[in-house]
Amino acid sequence: MRKPSGADPKKRKGLIIVNTGDGKGKSTAAFGLAMRAAGNKMNVFILQFMKGQWKAGERKSFEKLAPYVEVVPMGDGFTWDTENIEQDKATARKAFEIVKEKLNSGKYNMVIFEEINYVLHYKFLPEDEVLEVIKNKPEMTHVVCTGRNASEKLIEMADLVTEMKMIKHPFKEQGIPAQKGIEF
Ligand code: ATP
Ligand code: MG
Repeated sequence: MRKPSGADPKKRKGLIIVNTGDGKGKSTAAFGLAMRAAGNKMNVFILQFMKGQWKAGERKSFEKLAPYVEVVPMGDGFTWDTENIEQDKATARKAFEIVKEKLNSGKYNMVIFEEINYVLHYKFLPEDEVLEVIKNKPEMTHVVCTGRNASEKLIEMADLVTEMKMIKHPFKEQGIPAQKGIEF
């Protein structure tokens, strides 16, 4: 990779951003970007790929950021320990088709594939197909992918990759369960 000699003040592009790692903060960092973008009157679309992960706190806050932030949570039938993997795949497919259409509409300045890394890790969607869609995104649209175990290919393709590293977590050391404002 060529090393840039310095900042080019005119250079702009939509970034492919990946938040991964075993530490807390991947999703909240993505939501922080959404908040920041909305403040700049940028349009943000968030597709939440995991069932039950969509917490009241962020949902209600995002309602206040409408129309700049639009969220689609996956309602039902999506866990990776279900007996019916075909159903999981069908649900993941449905979610993916929605976010793909939104991304390609060119209407959004930022599209967040929330927890997509899990979907790819558990092979609910073909990795190459998903990466192809992200790669061919509208030039100026930022794409954010979150979740543990980001794939090597996605990391390779991305412009900005951050690994959250767990040093301490209140659940691990002290058995403290999820708390309002911190986890939901
Ligand atoms: P957050 O949504 O808080 O930013 P995250 O997106 O980085 O967290 P996920 O893997 O999506 O992490 O897991 C979400 C939930 O799991 C959060 O409630 C978070 O506090 C908890 N969690 C994250 N990392 C750990 C860990 N290392 N040990 C125990 N619980 C964790
Ligand atoms: Mg998360």
